Amino acid sequence: MIGHEASILILMRLGIFLKFVLYFVLLAVGLGAGGLLMYKNYRADHYEGVASAQLATAVVGSATILDQAISRGEKEAREALSLFSMFPFVLCVEIQSSQETDLRWPPLPCEIVKEEKYPLHYGNILSGGGGLLFYVSSEWIQEQVDRELYIGFIALAVFLLLFVVGSGLLFQRVVGHPVGYLIRSLRSISQDLTKQELIRKLTEDEIGELTDALNGLLQRIRTYQAELVRLANTDGLTGIFNRRTFFEKGEELIESHPQGIYFLLIDLDYFKTINDTYGHAVGDVVLEKVGGLLQGSMRTSGTRLPDIVGRLGGEEFGILMSANDMDDAVSVAERLRQTIESTQIEIGDVLVSTTGSIGVARTVAGESLDDLYQRADKACYLAKDNGRNRVEAAG
Ligand code: GH3
Ligand code: MG
Ligand code: MG
Repeated sequence: MIGHEASILILMRLGIFLKFVLYFVLLAVGLGAGGLLMYKNYRADHYEGVASAQLATAVVGSATILDQAISRGEKEAREALSLFSMFPFVLCVEIQSSQETDLRWPPLPCEIVKEEKYPLHYGNILSGGGGLLFYVSSEWIQEQVDRELYIGFIALAVFLLLFVVGSGLLFQRVVGHPVGYLIRSLRSISQDLTKQELIRKLTEDEIGELTDALNGLLQRIRTYQAELVRLANTDGLTGIFNRRTFFEKGEELIESHPQGIYFLLIDLDYFKTINDTYGHAVGDVVLEKVGGLLQGSMRTSGTRLPDIVGRLGGEEFGILMSANDMDDAVSVAERLRQTIESTQIEIGDVLVSTTGSIGVARTVAGESLDDLYQRADKACYLAKDNGRNRVEAAG
């Protein structure tokens, strides 16, 4: 189960990371391709300009030499033209003049050069009014641009790789790690909401705010949970433990302390008469008051083994307490009986008082809480039989 959850977590995290990389690479490739295309056209123009400028300078500088070579003869003129072959982009060059000549280098007609090419004219350069026609290699220009593009592409790819890896690491540090920590903490804390533990805030950014929000949520859930537990464990009228919780806690107590625990069962006397005389609402107030009296008279917290006080149903209350012996337990019960008897309960303009019969029983080794309760109940019946408003100990 844990392994399955971990793999889902890894997939989720990988998902965000992969999305990040994918979007970024798509954006970079789109922008990079557009940029390189624009750059390619721009650089092709540049290299055409370079070729034409270099040729223009060379043509102007060599005009006199060419004139002299032409005057000396065709062979010399061709040799002079061959000097232009030092430019790698020149495929063919020919002299254009008013008289028909085929003075060119190389000596074959320029049109038959197979390579893709375009012409460049430099007219009125020679003394006779003639000019020069060059065929410039398109491939050479393409090669120059391609070499630059190749370098640009490599640089872009290296940048992209470094950026993706770098931002991936940064992403893991800034988002992946704190979010992973948040998820682990939330999972661990939500295992037991009774612990007042909060998620530690790692950062002061949006993830920190999310941590604050989750901590606020945890606190609210704890408040509701504590209220639900209180409602489930206590009696709605008196606010003390209900029968279920009393027996649950009682069983834990007897299990940890099998000896020296006493059950005091308190049943209010002639309670039906109170209801009949003053009404059910007054009876409720009396029950509430007696519950409070019992709870207030016992030690339900502190370092000593705490007493357990609960309403077992109707006008019947139970107390589980530790005592040195039966005499001690009976004297506690006697004190409670006197407190109930002497308390005047003021409700509107009537004063109501009540009494209780109390049965006391002591744990016997190996006995269940239910058996202990039955014996306390018997003792309570004995107290009723013997005239009520008294304490009886189980034999
Ligand atoms: P005994 O001395 O023999 O115990 O007499 P009793 O009248 O106390 O005993 P009985 O069991 O006949 O009556 C218990 C009465 O308690 C009956 C019932 O109406 C009343 N009672 C039970 N629960 C409540 C409650 O929540 N509120 C009120 N007002 N009365 C309750
Ligand atoms: Mg009663
Ligand atoms: Mg009763």
